[in-house]
Amino acid sequence: MLGFDLTPEQVDIQRKARDFALREVLPLAWPGDARDELPLSLLRKAFEEGISSAGVPREYGGKGYGLLEMVLMVEEVAAACSGVATSIFDNSLGLTPLVLSRNEPLKQHYLSELAREAKWICFATSEPTMGSDVASLRCRVTEQGGGYVLNGTKYWVTNGGIADYISVFATTDPEKGHEGIGGFLAHLDWDGVTRSAPIPKLGQRASNTTGIHFRDVFVPGKNVLAPPGKGFVLAMKTFTRTRPAIGALAVGAARSAMEFALDYARKRQAFGTALSGFQNTQFRLAEMYQKLETARLLTWKSAWEVDSGMDATTSSAISKMFATEAAWQIVDDAMQIMGGYGYTRMFPMEKLLRDVRLLKIYEGTSEIQRLILAATVLGSYRPVMPSLHDLPVTGIPPPGEDEAGEGVFLWRCRVCGNVHVGREPPESCPYCFFPASAFKKVVPGQR
Ligand SMILES: Cc1cc2nc3c(=O)[nH]c(=O)nc-3n(C[C@H](O)[C@H](O)[C@H](O)COP(=O)(O)OP(=O)(O)OC[C@H]3O[C@@H](n4cnc5c(N)ncnc54)[C@H](O)[C@@H]3O)c2cc1C
Repeated sequence: MLGFDLTPEQVDIQRKARDFALREVLPLAWPGDARDELPLSLLRKAFEEGISSAGVPREYGGKGYGLLEMVLMVEEVAAACSGVATSIFDNSLGLTPLVLSRNEPLKQHYLSELAREAKWICFATSEPTMGSDVASLRCRVTEQGGGYVLNGTKYWVTNGGIADYISVFATTDPEKGHEGIGGFLAHLDWDGVTRSAPIPKLGQRASNTTGIHFRDVFVPGKNVLAPPGKGFVLAMKTFTRTRPAIGALAVGAARSAMEFALDYARKRQAFGTALSGFQNTQFRLAEMYQKLETARLLTWKSAWEVDSGMDATTSSAISKMFATEAAWQIVDDAMQIMGGYGYTRMFPMEKLLRDVRLLKIYEGTSEIQRLILAATVLGSYRPVMPSLHDLPVTGIPPPGEDEAGEGVFLWRCRVCGNVHVGREPPESCPYCFFPASAFKKVVPGQR
């Protein structure tokens, strides 16, 4: 059975997150953006209200929320500010490698702590010279003295300036590609760790993004998330479980953009009528709404697949790609409806436009999602339809015998699809002029 209704518990989770977003996040969204600053008090409150780190499994003392519960919360918080939401839910990105790790003592220690205390864990594959091509990362890790020593720089680390811990990916040898990569849980107050100043950004200014430099940082052997050779797969599995949340960020921000545009369209008068009276505005709103609903459905589906233990690589790429691109279009349309006021800094549309632009870039650009989907379509996808060459022939008399009693057959040109009736294929196709060798005998009913 297929159902889209939420359980009473899920409705409650959604309601609490909405209340938190309107009460706590919305008033601080603009000041945070204007000051290029993450309102730290919000992170703590989000933890206290059970919104961040809620994905820590129950056996480690956490709430054990699934990804569906997570995307419900992300949408609500992102509706108030997707920058703040990025920072609040960055803990889910940081702790997912830990949840997926096979290092049970490490999980016991850190997951229990993350469930108990307001601690922040960030995530880093990206570096100054690479982002999409994770297998080419250069941050080095060398086995030494019962542990590993980290050397190199990570870049674009969300919450890098404020986090306590980091799930960091590094390689024993950049020449080895994905086979050299391991995952490690490091403390950001360990000797040899330096954090950069926050990176100035176009949007999501209320989220913290920094570089982190590791110089001879010793990571004890017990802090290995995945040994060298296994880290790349761990990072990819992490993205599959976190990309639906980026889809939900997009849905939340786009929902607000649509609601603000709707409000404006009802009140603003032009040519003697409200903007909402123009069919152009109505159609625009209709398309915005349709994209929003589709994006939410795809996001929920991919979250549901993850929670059901399915391989959600494809659906998670679809939801991330569709929702983030739809959000960009929805905000652009909303800005158009608001005319000049949409472009000012007095209304939220310009902030929404700057904020949602990032969603098509981080956790795998739209192009990377297309690569994943292209690999699926061209690789594992199994078509239902027969090949073009084997389509049944319609509208042409079935094969039989000609006047001389000789067998007559159907011949399909494999280049242009023309079907010829005769004992033999024609010398050349009358449409595309390819020779007889281009023709294949068609056996009706046979695939
Ligand atoms: C604000 C912010 C926060 C971030 N937070 C984090 C974080 O917490 N942790 C983390 O690890 N990273 C983080 N990132 C990094 C982010 O994931 C990368 O920026 C992203 O993956 C793209 O990598 P890149 O910037 O190096 O671009 P590149 O990989 O250099 O790509 C540049 C362009 O080329 C395209 N391209 C690349 N390869 C291909 C290809 N094979 N085919 C077609 N097109 C291609 C890309 O799609 C893109 O359009 C963050 C980034 C930003 C901006």
